Amino acid sequence: MNYVETKEKKITSKVVHELDSLFKPKSIAIIGASSKELSIGNVILKNLVHYGYTGKIYPINPKEPEVRCVKAYPTIFDVPGEIDLAHVIIPSKFVPQIIEDCGKKGIKSVIINSAGFSEMGEEGMALQKAFLAKAKEYGVRIFGPNCQGIINSDPDLRAYCDFTFTFPEPGAISIVALSGGVGAIIMQSMFDLDIGMRMYASNGNACDISISEVVKYYGEDEGTKAIILYTEGFYNPREFMKVAKEVAKKKPILAMKAGRTEAGAKAAASHTGSLAGVDIATELIFEKTGILAFNNEEEMCQIAMAFATQPIPKGNRVGIITNTGGPAVIATDELVSAGLQLPALSERAKKILKETMLPEASIGNPIDVVATAGGKHFRSALDVLMDEETIDSIYINFVTAPFTDVDDVAKNIIEVNKMKRKPIVCNFMTNMSLDRFKVTAKILKDGSIPCYSFPTTAAKALGALYKYHKVRSRNIGEAKVFTDVNKTKAETILKESGVGSSEANLPTPNSQLPTSSFLSSGQVYNLLSAYKIPIANWRIADRAYDVAKAVKEIGFPVVLKADAESLVHKSDLGGVVVNLKNMDEVLTAVEKFQNNFQLKDLKFFIQKFLPGGRELIAGVSAQRDLEPLIMFGIGGIYVEVLKDVVFKIAPVTEVEVKEMLSSIKAAKILDGARGEKGIHKESVIEIIQRLSQLVMDFPQIEEMDLNPIMAFEDKVLVVDARIKIKNQ
Ligand code: ADP
Ligand code: MG
Repeated sequence: MNYVETKEKKITSKVVHELDSLFKPKSIAIIGASSKELSIGNVILKNLVHYGYTGKIYPINPKEPEVRCVKAYPTIFDVPGEIDLAHVIIPSKFVPQIIEDCGKKGIKSVIINSAGFSEMGEEGMALQKAFLAKAKEYGVRIFGPNCQGIINSDPDLRAYCDFTFTFPEPGAISIVALSGGVGAIIMQSMFDLDIGMRMYASNGNACDISISEVVKYYGEDEGTKAIILYTEGFYNPREFMKVAKEVAKKKPILAMKAGRTEAGAKAAASHTGSLAGVDIATELIFEKTGILAFNNEEEMCQIAMAFATQPIPKGNRVGIITNTGGPAVIATDELVSAGLQLPALSERAKKILKETMLPEASIGNPIDVVATAGGKHFRSALDVLMDEETIDSIYINFVTAPFTDVDDVAKNIIEVNKMKRKPIVCNFMTNMSLDRFKVTAKILKDGSIPCYSFPTTAAKALGALYKYHKVRSRNIGEAKVFTDVNKTKAETILKESGVGSSEANLPTPNSQLPTSSFLSSGQVYNLLSAYKIPIANWRIADRAYDVAKAVKEIGFPVVLKADAESLVHKSDLGGVVVNLKNMDEVLTAVEKFQNNFQLKDLKFFIQKFLPGGRELIAGVSAQRDLEPLIMFGIGGIYVEVLKDVVFKIAPVTEVEVKEMLSSIKAAKILDGARGEKGIHKESVIEIIQRLSQLVMDFPQIEEMDLNPIMAFEDKVLVVDARIKIKNQ
């Protein structure tokens, strides 16, 4: 199957890109080419020749006049012509010198296949630094080290600069994988699916040319219709986000990242920190930039098939054509859960179908053409759906009923597909061991119909095409900047707190614990107030003696909370007493705290009691090399049991915050359920946006929990908050 659309569509761009020397080399030197059959230096040469590389190959070997019947040269300086790209397959200790030589020879890119660098500890790291310095000096770009290499299947080039064993046909999908092993699995899977491939890159230690750069390059490559990405993390997530956002608007990026288990989640004092885990950031990067994320490599490859061949739908309305009942039911379930709809057909459509279908056919959406339907019946159903204004895509269940001319059905499907009006996916049900059905399958494949063996997979593929439509048309806008905040006041609070500064963290002689990196309650609430985040009326009484005055100022009923540095989850320790209706009750609670918490720094936090609100949580968790994560969800003391929270990368825009509110499991509760009134969502949305601005202004904030935020129909107020500052 050949998915390269037309001859003219191949790379014609006149602009020379820095990475062209890597992906479109006119000449390649293999430094370390070897006659030894089982060696990388041999396999790379063999692969280049076998794949039909159209450029010049220069094996470099000081001892052999030729390697695998190709004239060899003792050094790169003996090569008569220019060299675009060099493979380096020599022991790591010689690499710095070789990179210098490459620089002197004017080689623009080098793939270092050799291992023995940063992955091997300090000594290797030193070698990596040494060759990188040489590369910078001479302007040589490095791919790797400890990597496979690249492949470009462009029929005019056929560059197989890699030591693996899968030789893909030209196609429209380009792959970039940090891990060569996973990259090879993906490439093999695409090969088995007969999808074809455009370019491949697996960059190992990625010390110079990064995944981001490759994604950007693929983004600009006309022959690449979709990108598959596999990574295990990002060296520079900010750079990646910038690139991915731009590229994902132009072409779909399907991605997968391994290492999602909870096992790696770091322990953290706050709810937000522990709920965030270690890996959530990558998922959020994918989401924020519009990358389609997958958990399953097989599914990702299967779905890539639809992206390689089909246009992107303009909306979520799907029409189903089926010649068998059950699979249509399964498909409908999956399509609907992917956000697609099955609109009713127009009167006009029904009229045409009544005239053209078999009498047993069921006319609606799905259109059940029945098993005896032939090519002309399928054709009419397809034409009708293509003409329906309320249909954006077509899903087909096609079982090869032995009593029909199934090849004619297939031919009619591909005829319609050729017009590329709306995307088509097909769940093709057959017995592939029978030659007659192999013919049918080939007709469909050659006609670029993405065929699947299960209705769910076919439906998922269509769901992914629709998701990409949403990605392309989504506009999250810019994060709002509130001008009524008092940044100077917030700065002063943080500075005067001394929290996070090196002196503040030295253990004091009289305390068993090192000084905390948490702000005190007073500092927390003043900081939130500076950013106009609404808080339930509060006072702090330093001594029991001052409690009564504070209570009077607030007015009954009140809540009393024990306030001390060591009390993190107060209610777990009996440090929160709610609904105190008179002074007697208050004083009893004060006494209880004094007896229970024999703490030198015990203070009394008095707050208005706000019964009947819905308890929400908002929080922040700082990230290394990335903006902080903002969390929102159902709060209260059971937050970690319910785990109904969602995250986004700051700064969050209003659109994103609204998405957060509607994407928690209990979203309906916010609107009011079972006779309860809904909450004042606008206030919650504003609080989260203000929180986002606060943490963007003060990157020293490491973790923050507003839990709970009490949400009512007419107002929303924070009643408990905790802020941890990074140690500097
Ligand atoms: P902690 O999280 O340290 O245990 P909180 O201040 O969050 O302490 O209080 C625990 C619970 O007490 C809250 O989840 C909420 O149910 C209740 N609560 C606390 N303050 C108030 C208040 N002002 N009005 C009503 N209920 C409150
Ligand atoms: Mg709390």
